[in-house]
Amino acid sequence: MDKNRKLILIFLISLIIITVIIIQHNQREKSEDLHIKLYLSQQQQVIELPFEEYIIGTVAAEMPANFELEALKAQAVCARTYALRKIIENHKYPLNADLSDDICSCQAYCSQEEFKKRHGDKQGKLWDKISRAVNSTRGEVLLYDGKLIDALYHSTCGGYTADAEEVWGNPLPYLKAVKCNYCSQSRFYNSNQIISWDDLRKQLNLKARIYEIKIIPYRPAGRVREIIINDRHFSAASVRHDLNLPSTWWQFKTNSNGVIINSRGYGHGVGMCQYGANGLAMNNKSYEQILRIYYTGVSLEKIRL
Ligand SMILES: [Zn+2]
Repeated sequence: MDKNRKLILIFLISLIIITVIIIQHNQREKSEDLHIKLYLSQQQQVIELPFEEYIIGTVAAEMPANFELEALKAQAVCARTYALRKIIENHKYPLNADLSDDICSCQAYCSQEEFKKRHGDKQGKLWDKISRAVNSTRGEVLLYDGKLIDALYHSTCGGYTADAEEVWGNPLPYLKAVKCNYCSQSRFYNSNQIISWDDLRKQLNLKARIYEIKIIPYRPAGRVREIIINDRHFSAASVRHDLNLPSTWWQFKTNSNGVIINSRGYGHGVGMCQYGANGLAMNNKSYEQILRIYYTGVSLEKIRL
């Protein structure tokens, strides 16, 4: 065998060995991936799937798929941090599941099959984009003081996010109210609802004629803490629920026919503003910069799952 043929043979054998090592490594990584049990509330059943696959389905369900890639990456980090914290806290879900798709107690989830039905022809490209956002941030989570944060998020803040204390009474150092000038592309940035006096009485279960409406706001953002109608006190959360309003940040204007309620934003307003994240991404901000705007003083860390 001449020298050249010998070298080629050695090269080919080395290539085969390296390929085998890489395949074995990938297989080992795959089999060691964290798997979770997810409760599907509509079907009332549990499915088991790799954690990062669950994150793809969560980003698909929680954020419009046509958002910018950096916004989807920020959403992936939020969804991962939020879910891992639920698992670590051992939150109880039906049928002993680790997580649920019920948005009242966890995050939404959309399977690829369901996504196909929702997005028709564009689904392939959109699903690939979401997968890219999740895979490129694989294992990345948000920490404060070395612990996973409660990575809350909402659709549209309306110009100012809410302090956690405003909404739930407990202050958290990383969930502070911050100014957000980037969510004005949302149709809920500023919206109006007109309610007649009769409907307002019915929906709030009031018998008497309404002669006074007083709103007590939080500062600096201006979300409503309490509303006093005649002499009755209502929490902002209960009025939002009873009148089906998009947020608790309102201005009331009255006339002889009823009330015009101007609402700012959609959702509780705490943590990342999703439309704001998209607005920031359109202004060339990276997912890390986006996350640092909405979560005060956090660090972004990659952990092995
Ligand atoms: Zn916003």
